[in-house]
Amino acid sequence: MRTSNWILTAALLVSISAAAQQATDSQAPTQSPATDAAQTAQPAQQAAPAPDQQQPAPAASQPAAAQPAPAATIAPPATVPAPTTMDQVVNLFVEREHGLIKMLSNRTPVVETYLQNLSADPQLGPVPSEDHYFLGRLDMGETVDRKDYLKEEEKSMQQRLLGGFQKLYKVQYQPMGFSWMVYADRTDFDREHYDFRYVRREFLGDVRCLVFDVTPKPKSGRGRFLGRLWVEDQGFNIVRLNGTYYPAPRNSYFFHMDSWRLNLIPGYWVPSFIYSEEGDFSAGVKNKLAFKAQTRIWGYDLKKGGKDDELTNIRVDSVQDSSATAQDASPLQAERVWQQQAEDNVVDRLTSAGLLAPEGDVDHILQTVVNNLEVTNNIDLPRPVRTRVLLTSPLETFSVGNTIVISRGLVDVLPDEASLAAVLSHELAHIVLGHNLGSKYAFNDRMLFSDDATYQNLGFKHIPEEETAADKKAVEFLKNSPYAQKLDNVGLFLKALQQRAASLNALLTTHLGNPLAEGGQVNRLSALSTQGPALDNGKLDQIAALPLGGRVKVNPWDDKAEMVKTAPVAITSARDKMPFEVTPFFPRLSRFGGNAAPVSAPTTAANSTQNTGN
Ligand SMILES: [Zn+2]
Repeated sequence: MRTSNWILTAALLVSISAAAQQATDSQAPTQSPATDAAQTAQPAQQAAPAPDQQQPAPAASQPAAAQPAPAATIAPPATVPAPTTMDQVVNLFVEREHGLIKMLSNRTPVVETYLQNLSADPQLGPVPSEDHYFLGRLDMGETVDRKDYLKEEEKSMQQRLLGGFQKLYKVQYQPMGFSWMVYADRTDFDREHYDFRYVRREFLGDVRCLVFDVTPKPKSGRGRFLGRLWVEDQGFNIVRLNGTYYPAPRNSYFFHMDSWRLNLIPGYWVPSFIYSEEGDFSAGVKNKLAFKAQTRIWGYDLKKGGKDDELTNIRVDSVQDSSATAQDASPLQAERVWQQQAEDNVVDRLTSAGLLAPEGDVDHILQTVVNNLEVTNNIDLPRPVRTRVLLTSPLETFSVGNTIVISRGLVDVLPDEASLAAVLSHELAHIVLGHNLGSKYAFNDRMLFSDDATYQNLGFKHIPEEETAADKKAVEFLKNSPYAQKLDNVGLFLKALQQRAASLNALLTTHLGNPLAEGGQVNRLSALSTQGPALDNGKLDQIAALPLGGRVKVNPWDDKAEMVKTAPVAITSARDKMPFEVTPFFPRLSRFGGNAAPVSAPTTAANSTQNTGN
């Protein structure tokens, strides 16, 4: 019973005193969907396991044309005849689940969990009281394991999973537990261990799904999946899992989770987001455990370093001297080339560690804002300023050479363009003031470290004097810029941040740059913190900061970041504002290549008694 033991030990353990409150099921969000199926999946470059060859020859009845020509080297699974009974559907998705487990077994994606403990506020409802952050790499091989970027004291696997077991009355969150729901059951997902009951059809985004309730068979072992599955009706892949594990070991507790997959490569739906939530704030409930957590997985197709993928791809570009008169470099030019080399090394290394998004759409927006600041301040730099998105949640900016980096989490919570300009202006000031001229990273040996040691090997913090000077310069830039009339919004954002700073220590702990706040005190751009009206939670038109996840969506396969397109949702109470808060995931599912056209359903679905599709 190896699997059940693993699940057992991977449980998030709490003392028995944390009375088992029934978690609410994840609710439909009132907020913009956090993420969406990105449709820009790039060709996968790495070799992949061969498709499952046990399948019968493709049958014409399956709408194979639904997928664009596969550009990826990961071959999609063979198409199968359309099932005619629900039994056949169950067999198909069980087989597809095993195909997914096999396809991902050589992958080590990045996994991030951000968790907020909640306490009840009479006006705002459940609000964060403290938070926790985990970042690591998932090993999806034999079992599911993870390795953390954020070092704690060395622990054995056993200790890491059982660390909090004896600590009565204190919940210990084990990051592994939040990653566990990438699969329903890593090794025993089959008819011997589970009963499957068809419920209905339902659309998730553009994708029509068959919904099944799953219950472990009696005596099938502890820690089995209990909940609901959504299976898309063309390839019969699981696209969403919602439930928990059961039965829990004595004195411990399995959290409830809602796990989403995206169709990022032809034929496969890849685990991407997991939302977890516990807690009941209704009257009379003695709450011991209440939290919300978002787990994001990305970096499935991380290159093993360098710009070229494989040795076989070596291609010698014709190198030409681009300078007009082929002069030797002056000392100053040599210095600049040297700094450029350091900057490029860092950007490449952070990208290959799965921490930076490749250059893309979001950068165009960021660069436009930087450009607005530069033009109105007559800033003319010898090298252009570039921007990149750090893929993680903690609120962070830093700059290396002329590259400004801003975290996805920070872009998410900023309420408007003026606030974005404000955080970027601080880094632009570092560049203009010559604070970024360090070039130790021009030596390539300094880039040779394992991905999970990134935070130990790279760092771009400035001394306090430089921070003060950069803030001063940034305010000058802003006052000359098109954002000069909107600095009240920046002031409001800083006030909102100050209001939550003491309870969001993990979100405000930076890993590469200087923090926006320390010890519960916001210190970034303090000259603007008194600007604008007082913060008033009751004013519904005053949006000082947004929830996490509302602006940037990341493609978990190729790490590309793009802006979320959402329609504005009316805020009806102070509880809808949720500044800096974690919300459920509700990605709009769509098929690879954006095929949203309805396709004839398998006969079972067409004959089903209930159709809730809309
Ligand atoms: Zn700084």
